[in-house]
Amino acid sequence: GAKNIGFVGLGNMGANMASNLIKAGHKLHVFDISKPACEGLAAKGATVYAKTSELAKNSDFVITMLPNNAIVDASYDEMTADGVNKDTIFIDSSTISPDLVKSLQKKISAKGARFIDAPVSGGVPGAEQATLTFMVGGTEAEYNAVKAVLECMGKKITHCGVYGMGQAAKLCNNMMLAISMIGVSEAMNLAVRQGLDANVFAEIINSSTGRCWASEIYNPVPGVCPTAPANRDYAGGFSSALITKDLGLASGVANASNSPIPLGSLAHKVYQSLCDKGLGNKDFSVVYDLMKKEKFS
Ligand code: NAD
Repeated sequence: GAKNIGFVGLGNMGANMASNLIKAGHKLHVFDISKPACEGLAAKGATVYAKTSELAKNSDFVITMLPNNAIVDASYDEMTADGVNKDTIFIDSSTISPDLVKSLQKKISAKGARFIDAPVSGGVPGAEQATLTFMVGGTEAEYNAVKAVLECMGKKITHCGVYGMGQAAKLCNNMMLAISMIGVSEAMNLAVRQGLDANVFAEIINSSTGRCWASEIYNPVPGVCPTAPANRDYAGGFSSALITKDLGLASGVANASNSPIPLGSLAHKVYQSLCDKGLGNKDFSVVYDLMKKEKFS
């Protein structure tokens, strides 16, 4: 049946996810520090709140889709400061550290409500089309309680294990994505510089062993994938700043688990250099654009 769902963080991902919950018939209670972001959802029928603590009190489920650890942590402090409804389940879908998940879970369960991690993969296209993959960390009962709501925004909802295991899976996936985007960019650039047509080469890799999401759905070369950010000067999508943050989180868990990540570390440096060049707000596939202008070294 229809539920009251709070949604905090209506950015590139959150706005689309919240819209899909409205389409599925739920009643949305929303907040974002950006006024235009709130207005966009209000136009679709959501109720906008000035305080997240009030938003949470009117919600059976609260979903947060915020940039990073610090913002998620502060947002939950504010949202739960004057108590919580015991029946509310808080679901964080941002990409944050597994350690922060564990600490938020302790704080919120001490207040009497439930908190789980459910980060997503699939990018903005997946958020638009409600085909995201959700990686859930929590108890079996919590997973069963949130599954139907998450199914309004995604097509694969997987229980990964205890609190933080959703993020553990997410960070490993994104490290791979970060590496493969650089790989696709290098190969596309090398192919084009040898005289190959970008579309012909993309068609080859996408039916060959080089095929991956970055080559097939999100190709960094303009004109190859019609809906990819490459076709709009790398605007929107998944920012270089956010993937750099994710690689920092991956490096933290690699360090803590004593796991070697030579390419993950190198990828971290590459995206950090994009941010240093002022490209932090561009989609991370802008790494191709930079290579296009560089020389062999
Ligand atoms: P975004 O920057 O587009 O959106 C973040 C939103 O949060 C913005 O609308 C911003 O105004 C809002 N915000 C910031 N501080 C706030 C606060 N204190 N209270 C309320 N709202 C606040 O980011 P995004 O691309 O939508 O990503 C959100 C999260 O999802 C990140 O953790 C990211 O790593 C993760 N993620 C992104 C993608 C992607 O492809 N973009 C894919 C999977 C996961």
